[in-house]
Amino acid sequence: MRKPCPFEDAVAAAARSGDWSPELRAHRDGCLSCAELTLVVAALTTDAELLMGATRPLPDPKVIWLRATLATREQQLDRATRAIVWVQRAALAAAAVVGIAFAPGLWGLVRRTFSEVALANPVAGLPRAAGSPLLVLVVSMTILGALALYELTAVREG
Ligand SMILES: [Zn+2]
Repeated sequence: MRKPCPFEDAVAAAARSGDWSPELRAHRDGCLSCAELTLVVAALTTDAELLMGATRPLPDPKVIWLRATLATREQQLDRATRAIVWVQRAALAAAAVVGIAFAPGLWGLVRRTFSEVALANPVAGLPRAAGSPLLVLVVSMTILGALALYELTAVREG
């Protein structure tokens, strides 16, 4: 690490005020760290002068506050909507996976269930059909996926 130059404070003050003594100027021209310091201080001073001397009046704080509040609310809404859309996409993907994986077996299951309900005692067959966990899962997933698809298109249109 570089040792701090003993002239740093004097150089910074001179850079701010522009009041250079000949010795200080000579030191600055020969000292790398003081030359850098001069550039930084001069740049900061120019910025401050520009800000202080800005002729354009500052906007009303109420307007700034309102704008910030609106922007925050918009961001929150955007984040919430994005979360919903992702949940819908996940449901859609799950429904698609389940549909692809179980489609052939599902058709047989549905057919068997209905023929059992129709042919056997209807009252005895009904609870068995409703109680099939796979059927319940697949049906709910399909409904969820269809809803998600509907919602996604609705979101995109709105
Ligand atoms: Zn120096």
